[in-house]
Amino acid sequence: MPQPADLERLTTLARPHRDMINIMPLQTGSLLTDAARRALVEFGDGYSVCDFCQGRLTDIANPPVRQFVNEMLPEFLGSERATLTYGARDGVFMVLHSLTKPGDVVVVDGNRHYSTAVAAERAEVELVTVPNSGYPEYTVDAEGFDVALSKQHKVALVILTYPDGRFGNLADAPRVGEIAESLGIPYLVNGAYCVGRMPVRMSELHADFIVGSGHKSMASAGPSGVLGMKARWEEVVLRRSSLHKTKEVECLGCTVRGVPLVTLMASFPSVVERVQHWDEQVAKAQWFSAAMEEIGFRQLGEKPHRHDLMVFETTALYDISQRVRERGYYLYKEMEARGIWGVKPGQTKALELSTFAATREQLKQVVEAFQDILEKYR
Ligand SMILES: *Cc1c(COP(=O)(O)O)cnc(C)c1O
Repeated sequence: MPQPADLERLTTLARPHRDMINIMPLQTGSLLTDAARRALVEFGDGYSVCDFCQGRLTDIANPPVRQFVNEMLPEFLGSERATLTYGARDGVFMVLHSLTKPGDVVVVDGNRHYSTAVAAERAEVELVTVPNSGYPEYTVDAEGFDVALSKQHKVALVILTYPDGRFGNLADAPRVGEIAESLGIPYLVNGAYCVGRMPVRMSELHADFIVGSGHKSMASAGPSGVLGMKARWEEVVLRRSSLHKTKEVECLGCTVRGVPLVTLMASFPSVVERVQHWDEQVAKAQWFSAAMEEIGFRQLGEKPHRHDLMVFETTALYDISQRVRERGYYLYKEMEARGIWGVKPGQTKALELSTFAATREQLKQVVEAFQDILEKYR
């Protein structure tokens, strides 16, 4: 059992998989840029970003937090205002908490993230779900929102997960926005897997809010996130404290600082650049999906797929787990031995993978590794 004195050593050991081919969905969009890695060291001390703060984080000019939050982020998100959060879930909660009252109804897609449900629970609102189509595509039809909204007496907010965090399905977000807009219901797009990966503009989705995750898709150490909104919501979501006029209530007076923020900022130029190459990412994902199907796996979710996040049904790998000594862990070990990181220990039945960080050449190695393993245990 580790003792307190061991922590120094145990937290400074090199992570053995740091240089492997990474296909773990949580990690592929958050690998730090070199600039972010320098910022991480430079701003490692607590409150270091507050050297020149005069009371409001978003007014700091050095490093240029003010420009980042007030100009660069809204432009990037296609929103009128933006703010920082500790993550996608915090953005969702801030909006829920400031727009709803306990007992209100919020309509959400059936592929929602667990954190949306927990945020709703904390805000004491009732979630009404627009179901997905089920196996094998699990798509959410935008018209389902029309049906759900017409059945409800009064809905406080509509939330769409875009894409969802399991299948990587992209529902028709602009259409959901049109439906919500026509009924005068505010609309939040949860873009944890989209902001920082693919080009997206809140205004084109007819959305009131867009949420992104710094440590999932914006190459930030995190925890960090972004929240874009229409100007009309500023006085609701970003309202000031009556006791401390410079402080906002929803973020408890100040929000994400230090390493999470400076790594988000230092990576931002490459993030802005990389979303321009989204079509290459989609082509790569589709190529990978086809190669995986060729060796007998089945890609679940939308086809043709339009996102780097994918689930494969891998029955042949599961069958092997039923007759080997390590059970499900054999796969993780075999993949790790081949320099591939991202298969969860124990998982064999269905694999969630992301092609975002790997090159085509590396993905070819991934497919060959699976093929090799299938042959080895045949
Ligand atoms: C990962 C994820 C989240 C949580 O993101 P955090 O930034 O860690 O809060 C929320 N929603 C979806 C769809 C996700 O995939």
